[in-house]
Amino acid sequence: MKPAFSLCVYCGSRMGQRPEYEQAADEVGRWIGAHGGQLVYGGGKSGLMGIVAQATLKAGGQVVGVIPTALVEKEWAMNECTELHIVANMHERKRMMADRADAFVALPGGIGTMEEFFEAWTWRQLSYHNKPVGLLNTSGFYDSLLGFLGSMVDQSFLNDWQMDLIRTGSQASELLPQLVQDAGLSTAPRLDQI
Ligand code: AMP
Repeated sequence: MKPAFSLCVYCGSRMGQRPEYEQAADEVGRWIGAHGGQLVYGGGKSGLMGIVAQATLKAGGQVVGVIPTALVEKEWAMNECTELHIVANMHERKRMMADRADAFVALPGGIGTMEEFFEAWTWRQLSYHNKPVGLLNTSGFYDSLLGFLGSMVDQSFLNDWQMDLIRTGSQASELLPQLVQDAGLSTAPRLDQI
């Protein structure tokens, strides 16, 4: 069955220090599955990535993993994905993830997550795509980044309209419906899952 929406999630390949990060990843996966959605992500089984994917599957959602050969060779792939695409390199991976998504959201993570988030945002502000971009600010994880971006605005390296392209929220249940709505789509709640 065609999913109601397809959400690309960028997040840590590690768990981080606070239990709230794992809870947020689990909540995101459950929300996607319970609302008839599809997860698009990096195809890994470690850290928050694995938590989101497993929670989505458990809640009846579809999971599209896109992973480069080099990471499969390290046995980092999550073989339970509904679709697991093994691609030649990072560029192909990011292109496929972006093409398959209706919206993007970054959860807490490290440099991989940041690189992916900034690319989705940069492409949006250049109108390479018109898909919503969100930042899940679990337990204020991204407060310092948002503060730094605010100083870029103060120093005239960034405009308010560019900042306005990022939707932020501290709770998945608040942020994700907004992203789906901004993408011009609706959720298809599964009553057995909510
Ligand atoms: P990081 O935030 O540095 O942990 O990197 C996470 C992001 O980079 C994810 O969204 C993935 O797309 C990619 N990535 C990094 N490490 C892995 C891994 N072990 N398996 C799959 N993807 C990974």
